[in-house]
Amino acid sequence: MNLKNNLQLIMISLALMWIATTVQAQDEKGTTLFTNVKVFNGTDEELSNVDVLVEGNMIKQVSAEIKAPKGTQIIDGGGRVLMPGMIEAHGHVTYSSSLLDMMLNHDATEQAIYSARRAQDYLMAGFTTIRDMGGNSFGLQKALDAGVLSGPRIYSSGPPISQTSGHGDFRTANDGHPYFDGPELGGVATRFHWTRIADGPDEVRRATRENLFRGAAQIKVYTGGGVTSFTDPLYATQYSHEEIVAAVEEAKRYGTYVAVHAQTDAGVVAALDAGAISIEHGLILEESTVKRMAELGAYYNPQAFLALQDVSKNPMFQDPIQQQKNREVAKGTPQAIEWAKKHGVKILWGTDVFFGDDAFVNFRQEFAYRDRFFKPIEQMQQVTGINGEVLALSTWKNPYPHGALGVIKEGAYADILLIEKDPTQDIKVLMDSDNLALIMKDGKIYKNTLQ
Ligand SMILES: [Zn+2]
Repeated sequence: MNLKNNLQLIMISLALMWIATTVQAQDEKGTTLFTNVKVFNGTDEELSNVDVLVEGNMIKQVSAEIKAPKGTQIIDGGGRVLMPGMIEAHGHVTYSSSLLDMMLNHDATEQAIYSARRAQDYLMAGFTTIRDMGGNSFGLQKALDAGVLSGPRIYSSGPPISQTSGHGDFRTANDGHPYFDGPELGGVATRFHWTRIADGPDEVRRATRENLFRGAAQIKVYTGGGVTSFTDPLYATQYSHEEIVAAVEEAKRYGTYVAVHAQTDAGVVAALDAGAISIEHGLILEESTVKRMAELGAYYNPQAFLALQDVSKNPMFQDPIQQQKNREVAKGTPQAIEWAKKHGVKILWGTDVFFGDDAFVNFRQEFAYRDRFFKPIEQMQQVTGINGEVLALSTWKNPYPHGALGVIKEGAYADILLIEKDPTQDIKVLMDSDNLALIMKDGKIYKNTLQ
């Protein structure tokens, strides 16, 4: 036998082995059929009486007439609402203990454990995906995807990119600057990659590329002042046009996009001018800017809960500087949201919850605070289908590229909830975990009270 024949033989045996393993894998794919459910598919206003067949981790069929294969697990929904797993479009899963603990008391391992627990809490609250808008969530995402712990899918941004003295500059007075004094003296936030300080187009470009290398699905940049941070005025614009463009260009080259933190009009205008397409917060706006967002097809992610709550008792905002900034933001919020509705801006559902447990317990209050602006079905569309659209914009950097998220349709990932009571009648139903009768993520059931 010559070398060529030998190679052919090896190729044939490899092919046979591949076929054998594929067949085996297919046999192992469990199937589940949901019957007797009212389906909210993530986009339509009306619920439909159809069954949903899950095969492996994907939705295989949505129809009133499904012939389930032998051995299928049948789940009789008892007339409950079936909806897509919810998506948090503005999470910070690794900013998961108090600011003081994060900065002073916790080492990296301790902080990671708090973050893992928060991920688990999100899943058990019905959130099967988080678009993480800043923090060092890369390792957590990998561990969750590997099944080490239970938790949602994570679209990591990695450390949000901030200018020196910007919203992401969380150094204390005793910390040095990563450039002037060396990275080891650059403060705990930069050292643990909670945020990243970069100045000038070249550094912003490098920081963007670094985040993409680490696994960022999208890039987060701060283009204006924030409420939580102490040293940047709320109305400050942050980053020059060239700096924001540098981030947008690098993100685009990798098939993804830039989301910006901007509370005020000037920061949003700068972001739109540079080509950013996901506006986070944007609570003090001019109508012309809101109109432009609609024309550009930009996504708008306001946080009614953070802005409109009484911050005096919120442990996240105990500093008078923060409280004053929050009052400013609260004044602008109702008008900004009304204009967004009027001009048909695509509105995401995100909470921006961060820091200690007290904050996380309340994060679903976002449903209650938005209730004054939106019909229940509109919020349901935001927290599933519309949020799913923005996830898909990560294209080549999408960590879950094999199906859609936030929808119940053939070929979508099997992230599914069964709800007690009817959220289309009262959206606050979704604030109570007791109303989550079943939680499925990636075809796997994490909670089922029907058995
Ligand atoms: Zn945020």
